[in-house]
Amino acid sequence: MSISFLKVRQEVIAIGKDMKSSSLVVGTWGNISARVPGEALMAITPSGVDYDEITPDGIVIMDYNGNVIEGDLKPSIEFGLHSAIYKAREDVNAIMHTHSTYTTAFAIARKPIPAAAEDLVQIVGGDVRVGEYCLPGSPELGPEIVKSLEGRNAVILANHGSLAAGKDLKETMKIVNVVEKSAQSVILAMTLGGVVPLCQEDIDFMRDFYLNKYGQR
Ligand SMILES: [Zn+2]
Repeated sequence: MSISFLKVRQEVIAIGKDMKSSSLVVGTWGNISARVPGEALMAITPSGVDYDEITPDGIVIMDYNGNVIEGDLKPSIEFGLHSAIYKAREDVNAIMHTHSTYTTAFAIARKPIPAAAEDLVQIVGGDVRVGEYCLPGSPELGPEIVKSLEGRNAVILANHGSLAAGKDLKETMKIVNVVEKSAQSVILAMTLGGVVPLCQEDIDFMRDFYLNKYGQR
């Protein structure tokens, strides 16, 4: 195994274990990838292997045209979706696709998660849109999700789950958790009479704060 791929493979494995223990997926569903730093390549989880059992060799190194560069296992069926996003979005270096319970409720209802919670609009950039339904692994899914993800860092896959795209794996995991928490909060708010969405001006202010001023700089 090429030493330059080892670090990114280990990082993908660690996030996969976190994802499974956080109940964001059941069994072997979902998938994770990250760009290989300095190369037009990604490291992606294999198809149908338990997240606790993936070894560094099992993480598949691929280019963005579907060619396997290194790895013995078959990559996730959604490699085309991940590639389409890396090709379209320079700001994205890591992608997670999950089937978490509350977000999947919005996916099967085909309803967006409204831009109501402050943490959601800061980290996602607004509401979480729903892409048009496409079969998993189909060539139509990538372009559809790239379109629905425009100006956002998360998107809902109709009747399926969600996808988060961030600057690194750590941020991407945070996006997944904030989206799931927002989905849960919105469903609870419905029982209290509904949701009051934030106005665009306030969303823009908070988004700018998150991207340019938040944290220790
Ligand atoms: Zn899925």
